Amino acid sequence: MTMTKEKQNNGILKELCPKTGCAKGFVNGPCGGEVNGKCETDKTRDCTWILIYEGLKKNGKLEKFLNQYIEPKKLSSKS
Ligand code: SF4
Repeated sequence: MTMTKEKQNNGILKELCPKTGCAKGFVNGPCGGEVNGKCETDKTRDCTWILIYEGLKKNGKLEKFLNQYIEPKKLSSKS
């Protein structure tokens, strides 16, 4: 899954920000370290990406979220 600021601003998920909620700040998640919904960096914390997934599923927005195409970021300054 990929979360963008645009998707957050469009109201798909305003309350969960992966840049600040995920210990690694991943915008693609979850990472491979999540175990039973807990973060690999701190087993007492919920994995933000699992919370995002469950929130989308609960609100009936998962399919819409997963079926949206997001252009890859152009990270190179060379053209
Ligand atoms: S387990 Fe979840 S919250 Fe923790 S670093 Fe991985 S994706 Fe981020």
